[in-house]
Amino acid sequence: MQAFVNFFYLAAAVLFILGIKGMTKPKTAVRGNQLSALGMGLAVLAALLDFHVVSYGTIIIGILAGGAAGVYMARKVQMTSVPEMVALLNGLGGGASLLVAAANYLESQQLSGMGQFDPTVEWSVAVILSILVGAVTLTGSLVAVGKLMGKVDDPKDIRNYKLGVKASFALLFVGTLTLVMGDTLNSGVLLTLMILLCLVLGVCLVMPIGGADMPVVVSLLNSYSGIAGAAAGFVLGNNGLIITGSLVGASGLILTSIMCKAMNRSLVNVLFGGSMAAAAGISKSENDAFYEGKVKFASADEVAMMLETAKRVVFVPGYGLAVAQAQHATRELASLLESAGAKVKYAIHPVAGRMPGHMNVLLAEAEVPYDQLVEMDTINPEFPQTDVAIVLGANDVVNPVAAKDKNSPIYGMPILEVYNARTVIVVKRGLSPGFAGIPNELFIRENTLMVPGDAKKVLQDVIKALREG
Ligand code: NDP
Repeated sequence: MQAFVNFFYLAAAVLFILGIKGMTKPKTAVRGNQLSALGMGLAVLAALLDFHVVSYGTIIIGILAGGAAGVYMARKVQMTSVPEMVALLNGLGGGASLLVAAANYLESQQLSGMGQFDPTVEWSVAVILSILVGAVTLTGSLVAVGKLMGKVDDPKDIRNYKLGVKASFALLFVGTLTLVMGDTLNSGVLLTLMILLCLVLGVCLVMPIGGADMPVVVSLLNSYSGIAGAAAGFVLGNNGLIITGSLVGASGLILTSIMCKAMNRSLVNVLFGGSMAAAAGISKSENDAFYEGKVKFASADEVAMMLETAKRVVFVPGYGLAVAQAQHATRELASLLESAGAKVKYAIHPVAGRMPGHMNVLLAEAEVPYDQLVEMDTINPEFPQTDVAIVLGANDVVNPVAAKDKNSPIYGMPILEVYNARTVIVVKRGLSPGFAGIPNELFIRENTLMVPGDAKKVLQDVIKALREG
């Protein structure tokens, strides 16, 4: 039976790897998701066949309750709230590893009391790692969810949290040494104290990080939940959990590094640099003064007139497109332009929006053909031949300041060079800054026209004007 179980785990691991590979391209993403789901189904089946299972009744209740909650959340959650949901799931994953390792520890205490179990140092380290990383992931993720929902504010003074991190690490180091070296693994009180300390550490680590950096933090916490899971796999002697946890841990780290690179920031800067918007230190009046008398506005009717003669149009979506849920209106306008003979493309910046692949997912929902989604490096040389570039709720990812102002918080971040297009239309509600909290030089350029308003509403007005001809 054990060989059978291990074979299932191996098959699940292969499906996970194929699934992750599939998810690297929009075209194969759905298939990738299905393969991963199948792999997870196999892994659950293998775990149920495993000899460790004591009672199936409780497990079935757990599967039904968890499955129902999962289906409910997946159906109800808005696209803009996916980062919150992912963060919550990471936290619960960390919490699950914590509980599994703690339960195993309590059981091992009883067994070693009866002389039936002799904990090795490796086993003890795995227990501690699983509990520690799981606890940090749990509370860190809950803080991240609060920040993403706008319910937890960035603290004005982060010094106490930094102090909390240092003190927690020092105490945890001493606690771990005492547990592993001091032959006191049966010290339940010490372990409970360490769990509490790790729960506090999770809060202290995430609280000082700016709310806007939460997607990077969520990706890192995702990696932590994988590490906690892999450690729990070592505690249980479960190969499936070790493989899955390692895959999650490694892919989370890779994604974190890709996101930092695309923003041209180091992970250390994200984690310990405080809030980026606060670091930029630009007040509302300074922001308004930057644009004073320099911005040219246009109406939806004027945009429609320009589009009537445009041969090449590039849509540049950003976070505001997701807020406005304007993906369907964008597609409708694109189809209208195509039927009038224009060539339409969509420029995709790697960190547009608030999560990796955000724009791809949104536009896929509106059934935009994949071959029209063009990556930054490919579309940039095409802007000089573009008649109209329509920027929809994007800000930082089109800010030319990134290339030249060394003091800018986004200095060095590669951007979509929309300013090279013949005419640039920027659709956003006002002149407020984006994620980085800085003014955008694009908005005052000679060839830029701003159309104030909600992206969906403006697009619908443009469509109406075009139809009415
Ligand atoms: P930004 O956050 O720079 O700008 C979004 C703009 O959308 C705002 O200026 C806002 O202006 C506008 N907006 C908001 N609501 C609406 C609406 N209903 N209709 C029209 N416009 C709206 O977004 P970008 O996508 O350009 O850049 C993403 C930023 O997020 C980058 O700085 C990136 O580094 C960062 N980031 C991205 C991550 C990712 O994985 N994608 C992860 C972490 C950070 P106004 O209020 O005036 O309408």
